[in-house]
Amino acid sequence: ATPTAIMVGTGLGARRGVLFKNAIALETSAHVQTVVMDKTGTLTKGEPEVTDVIADGVDEGEMLRLVAAVERESEHPLAQAIVRHADSRGVGTVRAGRFENVPGHGAVAQVDGRRVLVGNRRLMEREGIDLGPLAARRDELAATGRTAVIVAVDGRAAGLVAMADAPRETSAAAVAALHDLGVEVVMLTGDNRATAERIAERLGIDTVIAEVLPGDKAAKVAELQRTGRKVAMVGDGVNDAPALARADLGVAIGAGTDVAIETADLVLMRSDPLDVPVALRIGRGTFRKMR
Ligand code: ADP
Ligand code: MG
Repeated sequence: ATPTAIMVGTGLGARRGVLFKNAIALETSAHVQTVVMDKTGTLTKGEPEVTDVIADGVDEGEMLRLVAAVERESEHPLAQAIVRHADSRGVGTVRAGRFENVPGHGAVAQVDGRRVLVGNRRLMEREGIDLGPLAARRDELAATGRTAVIVAVDGRAAGLVAMADAPRETSAAAVAALHDLGVEVVMLTGDNRATAERIAERLGIDTVIAEVLPGDKAAKVAELQRTGRKVAMVGDGVNDAPALARADLGVAIGAGTDVAIETADLVLMRSDPLDVPVALRIGRGTFRKMR
């Protein structure tokens, strides 16, 4: 492409808040064959809300009070949703001690002399906690696309807190537009498989890579690249930065974290998934026609 064509393409994008950091980013977007999208905060709004609280053998308010104490120490979006819910229910506050964040698993702390765990099945397995009848309830909730975290108190499963995170309004349209461009769309998430598959199905995504630990996202991108395809990765979180760096084209959601924005080759200022196909079309328009 001529320098003029590159200026035109970059300008077209900028007017729409699609910011290519350089000419290579613009050129790469013309050749992308696979788009990997982070689920939480990219395909979804990233604002989970508590939908169900299930207590088993403990008082529900008491369980919420213990969980909220742990999650008050965490910055995870699921933790914030739980704290908001507990506050709105007025369960009262108590301080947690010896807080430990376990990335990709959950959180652990000491509350009122009890050891409280909140997180996924992997955390419970690690701690040797048997889910008992809660396992089936968890699966039912996951099948509806909700994220159900498990609560354990003093080594015993005590309940579940389920949350829903609504897809962004344009996520399904963005997937359809990418398919129209002949581009494969993959969802990449740390969330559990059943939850991710239900949401992917609603959005028309055919490939789901779920239950990925935060540190393993970049390796998953590299695996896709090994098939010889040009891969774009779209994400918003600190967790996503290494995967954005690894991808042929790293794309950050404008509403995302600074680290993601700094690492990316392309920033979508409007945080609209539809701007992913828009960017690829601008790239193709600039580089294919000019050959
Ligand atoms: P994501 O890709 O959705 O951002 P993470 O790697 O941050 O996922 O977390 C993966 C899973 O670990 C969550 O879906 C949840 O089950 C569990 N988890 C992580 N942190 C917490 C927490 N603070 N409270 C409860 N569950 C958590
Ligand atoms: Mg995210």
